[in-house]
Order: sequence, then structure tokens, then C-alpha cells
Amino acid sequence: MADLQPCVLVVEDEPAQREVFIYNLEAEGFRVVSTDDGNEAMLLVEEEKPDVILLDWMLPGTSGIEICRQIKSRPHLRATPIIMISARTEEVDKVRGLEMGADDYVSKPYSIIEVIARVKSQLRRLRPATMGERLTHEDISLDSATHRVFRGDKEIKLGPTEFRLLSTFMEKQGRVWSREQLLDRVWGRDIYVDTRTVDVHIGRLRKALVLNGGADPIRTVRGAGYALG
Ligand code: CA
Repeated sequence: MADLQPCVLVVEDEPAQREVFIYNLEAEGFRVVSTDDGNEAMLLVEEEKPDVILLDWMLPGTSGIEICRQIKSRPHLRATPIIMISARTEEVDKVRGLEMGADDYVSKPYSIIEVIARVKSQLRRLRPATMGERLTHEDISLDSATHRVFRGDKEIKLGPTEFRLLSTFMEKQGRVWSREQLLDRVWGRDIYVDTRTVDVHIGRLRKALVLNGGADPIRTVRGAGYALG
């Protein structure tokens, strides 16, 4: 099963630098996928759906800036934060990187602590539940560090799948998730699960949430999927 462990894609052609990224990101609890190749980077983005991409500017073949442009031109990938890593310290390069849609920019030589901090800052913005934060929706609160959920002052006991479903909803309140998107995010892409399974777990989540009273906060959107609020 997929869990809340965020995935970082590292695209860097220099083996020593790549190892430094992988070692430090894994030490921080991230799942890391990496490549030294621009073309493979695009495949990995599609396959692994990373939460953040660390992208070296100077790569053999497709350049980092071109990969950035391609990712940001695809609607389903556009929201993925990209941190450009560059040996080019010119201000004009930074501006160009950001114009191509990069979300942040770090120039070499960088401090690995700073890079990790920037990865976390992108994640905090996009997937707060993966960063041990407390999320709230009306009278529901979810503490991702302790895995506890409360409605009002009553604790709600959820199974692991229902907890992940609720985290997903609470990170993007109001967003409509299709059953396929929920399968990808909550169950993981490698596991075959029937989309009806999603309905079963949504049913369990709803039941748990209304157990002590209160309205059902999950909305069924006909033909589209489910949303919170
Ligand atoms: Ca390079």
C-alpha cells in the first residue's frame, strides 16, 4: 500500500552529487527515485508521480530547463513542484528558470541542509499531511504526526486506508477526486484494486465520521467522484 511517505525525484548526472541527495533525502524519510538522464526523467515523472522534483539544469541530452518546460506544460503534472539546481549563478538564469515554471532555484555550491529545507517547504505547501502537520476541516481535525483524528472533542478511530483517504481529502479541501485518483494516491499504482473498493472504504470513513453525530462531510459528486466540503 502506498503511504504518506513523500516521493522525491532527483535528476542529476553527477554521481557523487546524486548520492548526496539520495542519502540525505532518505535519511529524512523520503522515498527517492533518481536518474541521470533527461528522457528517463520524463518517464519517471509519469510513472512515479513524485511529490517534488530536484532538477539539475545541466544534463546530457535534454536539459533541465527543457524538462521543466515539458512538465509545466502538461496539465496533470503542472502542480508538481520543481526545484532547479544550477551551477549558473547569474541572476538572469534564475529568472529564466522561474519563468519556465520552476518553483524554486538553488545555485551550486549549495548546502544540502538548505536544499532539504526547500524540499520540505514545497511539501508543506502541497501535502501538509506528509509533513506531520495538523489539518482541520470544520470540527474535524487530523494530526498526521500521531495519526489521530478528532471530531469536536471525540476521537474517531479509523483504519489505515480510511485515515489515508481522509488525509487526502483534508489536504485539498473542496477538490473532487475521481475513484482512479484516490486509488493512485491511497492504494498506490502497483496494486490492482477494483474502483468499487474505493466506495466501500468511503462508506466506512463516512460511517466513522458521523458516529457521534454531525453531518456527513463527504460529498458524492455524480459521475466524478468524492470531495470533502
Ligand atoms: Ca549536471
